[in-house]
Amino acid sequence: MTVGNPDALGDLLLQWYDREKRELPWRGDEVSVYMTVVSEFMLQQTQVKTVLPYFDRWLQTFPDFDALANASIEEILKQWEGLGYYQRARNLHKTAQQYVAADAKPVTYDDWLAYPGVGPYMAAAISSIQGGDTQVVVDGNVIRVIARLFADNRVFKDAATAVKVIRPLAQNIMIEARSGDFNQALMELGATVCKKQKPLCLLCPWEKTCKARIQGIESEIPLFKKTKYTERTIHRLYAIEKGKLLLAKSSNGRRLDDIWELPELDGLPSNENPYSTKKRGIGNERITEIIYKSTDDAWLNGTKKAEHQWVPLKKLDKVLLSGPHRKWISSFLASDGDSC
Ligand code: SF4
Repeated sequence: MTVGNPDALGDLLLQWYDREKRELPWRGDEVSVYMTVVSEFMLQQTQVKTVLPYFDRWLQTFPDFDALANASIEEILKQWEGLGYYQRARNLHKTAQQYVAADAKPVTYDDWLAYPGVGPYMAAAISSIQGGDTQVVVDGNVIRVIARLFADNRVFKDAATAVKVIRPLAQNIMIEARSGDFNQALMELGATVCKKQKPLCLLCPWEKTCKARIQGIESEIPLFKKTKYTERTIHRLYAIEKGKLLLAKSSNGRRLDDIWELPELDGLPSNENPYSTKKRGIGNERITEIIYKSTDDAWLNGTKKAEHQWVPLKKLDKVLLSGPHRKWISSFLASDGDSC
């Protein structure tokens, strides 16, 4: 499967990147390994515009590996609040501790793979940006760009299968002398030009060589087997009494431990109308959250008695809440005229 000279493709991409790259705080000559690591942890499954304010605050609070390694996990999770996927924050903390303790600092792809929460994608990104290795990054964006460039229209079973096919194709066009820029260029092209819906081919450095573009099938690939989603319904209680809100430790196992949310209801004491209904997706789950507002004993007794706490509304910003719950609670308080 060829689309011309691999070096020429790599050069075109780098010329485009040099012209068009977004100025981001984790890019440029002054960037430290620490900034690269923090940005890569934050950018996993999260968009650049969401990460930007977090990244600035993070650097002010934890300016280097030492500061982060010595911080408490509570402080770290509080700074992370709202970014979601909290395991990333725990792994970033452990990575900082391992980095500080290491006599030989990590440089290569393999060195970074030995760090907590660092998988092949992140190891390739960090080591190449740091100038220590030349492994290509492959994530959903890169799968899309490269599958289109080569008009690979097979149906992939899942992302892991696609990575195996796409990695050698992407590696083949990498300009190794600028591996860090090349990897960032590939990610940037996927995020800003070769979009999932309606790719902006006229702005693409590969417009004239991209096989999918030439065949007019750019919006149809890559193809994946349909994901099976499971549906789940959760009933929750929104109870406010004497200026205090009832919260419960998340029952969501390790993923969200130490994080508070509106308590789940075991069963429904009556046929009350819901106060609010929220829908969200986590992984392959589609969750409907039905929220009831009451302070009657029957309802309070119906909550799952994990760890509960009545938290003064004035102190809500001190509590680590899951991102969606903070948003819901703020909008409930605003629409009810309550204040915190
Ligand atoms: Fe993507 Fe279009 Fe560029 Fe092909 S020409 S890589 S489809 S943006």
